[in-house]
Amino acid sequence: MNIETQAIHAGHQIDPASGAVTPPIHLSTTFERAADGSYPHGHVYTRDTNPNRNALEHNLAVLEGGFEAAAFASGSVATMSLLQALRPGDHVIAPNDFYFGIRKIINEIFIPWGLQVSFVDMTDLDAVRRAVQPNTALLMLESPSNPLLTVADIRQIAAIARQAGAQLMVDNTVATPVLQHPLQLGADFAVHATTKYIGGHSDVLGGAIVAREDSGVWQRVRFIQKVGGAVPSPFDCWLALRGLQTLPYRVRAQSAAALKIAQFLEQHPAVEQVHYPGLESAAGHAVAKAQMEMFGALLSFQVKGGQAAALAVAANVNLFTRATSFGGAHSLIEHRASIEHEGTTTPVNLLRMSVGLENVDDLLADLAQALTV
Ligand SMILES: *Cc1c(COP(=O)(O)O)cnc(C)c1O
Repeated sequence: MNIETQAIHAGHQIDPASGAVTPPIHLSTTFERAADGSYPHGHVYTRDTNPNRNALEHNLAVLEGGFEAAAFASGSVATMSLLQALRPGDHVIAPNDFYFGIRKIINEIFIPWGLQVSFVDMTDLDAVRRAVQPNTALLMLESPSNPLLTVADIRQIAAIARQAGAQLMVDNTVATPVLQHPLQLGADFAVHATTKYIGGHSDVLGGAIVAREDSGVWQRVRFIQKVGGAVPSPFDCWLALRGLQTLPYRVRAQSAAALKIAQFLEQHPAVEQVHYPGLESAAGHAVAKAQMEMFGALLSFQVKGGQAAALAVAANVNLFTRATSFGGAHSLIEHRASIEHEGTTTPVNLLRMSVGLENVDDLLADLAQALTV
């Protein structure tokens, strides 16, 4: 079936008890045993499994074309759980342009814990090959990356991982399961912050890992999920599953608008540089075209005149809300270096933008007036 149909039907069933078309939210933390001691409904305790979480996990596994998915309380803890599934002394290759929160987690938790990590420019395949060590267990990738929207060749990096006897994780949050299919391109794990496009309305925090096939690392992730319980609440699972129903239509509309905005910004005299893989001028455009259906709603651009000029643009927009995050219905704009705080490598004149579901002509008019003030 096609992804629009899967997004609506996978993990969804009419409630057998009531006939309710939308699923009930199962708040119960515990489930009844039969007289013979068995659990006829398959659930024991909500940290292990919950009907709402199972439905969300099933839907995500289907959309990514994976074996199974595990849902977590945030995108950050999803990636943490995958790193926890490794052993101290294992070596990991991570991108040097990476969601800043994950970089912080690696530097402040996992390196002290004993993981060996090389930060590498993942767009440079020779650099990735050179970074491989005998104890390399995992390659991590974010493509397009955040916030510079660089594009790495997932097929090629999956081949390097296979040759090294390591696994490849792709953070697919920026691309979504609609625009890019890391598991089909050879990755072992696709990770999502469901907080972004999947929830889609800026009202739920969550994350997930989808595995292409069963493995020792995957069993360990499942174990960590169940014994630790860093899982989304039943209501959070319900919200994420609701968001998934409209995901393909939202993402494509947002991507079409983002491309128009990127093209507008690229020819604007007040703009120094636009970072968007959909632009023909982008360094990663050819690879992006080969592995993505469209290019997403996230873009960033550098304003001429430094930090003050960038902050002035963010101050002058009316329709874009000055806020972090992306993937929701409201268009957002943010001065990225200020949210990343100390140690940031993001240019100070860079604004990151999440294009929402407003009419693109209204967004273009708003940007035009903000850039000429
Ligand atoms: C937001 C985000 C995360 C972290 O997700 P949270 O739900 O905020 O913990 C991880 N990776 C990427 C690419 C993100 O955009």
